[in-house]
This record gives sequence, structure tokens and C-alpha cells, in this order.
Amino acid sequence: MAEPPKIAKVEVNRDVCIGAASCVAITSAVFELDAEGKAVVKDISAADSKTLLAAAESCPTKAISLYDSAGKKVYP
Ligand code: SF4
Repeated sequence: MAEPPKIAKVEVNRDVCIGAASCVAITSAVFELDAEGKAVVKDISAADSKTLLAAAESCPTKAISLYDSAGKKVYP
């Protein structure tokens, strides 16, 4: 896959997150599960854009949205 644009913002839609934790498996530096078993974003600078994209793509419910620095949605 081509190099993704730099990711400036990562959002988890808690309404659709099912706690599958595949995002955490890809980068536990960025995502963790909270007490409700839903993903929260810890530190988006802890991974490069490629890894963030891979984590978002791994989410079975597409709960992770990525935005570039202009606020444009990069994924999904
Ligand atoms: S992969 Fe998706 S559903 Fe699973 S914990 Fe992460 S955000 Fe939630």
C-alpha cells in the first residue's frame, strides 16, 4: 500500500467498538482497552502513520477514524 498521509487525529467511535482489541494488538503504544473494554487512544505520536492505518484497517467494525492535519478523513 502507498505511504499514507500523516495522521494528525485518531478517533474511536465507542458506539461501534466491540473491544476486539486488534488495534491494541497492532500497537499497544497507541491504543488500550479501558474499564468498559472499549478502545481509547493513548498517544498517537507513538506510532507512524502506516501503523495507525494498519490498526484502523484491522478493526472489524471500522470504529477507528483517521484524519490528516487539515482535518480531512483519511480512513475509513
Ligand atoms: S479493533 Fe476496533 S473494535 Fe477492536 S478494540 Fe480496537 S477499536 Fe474497538
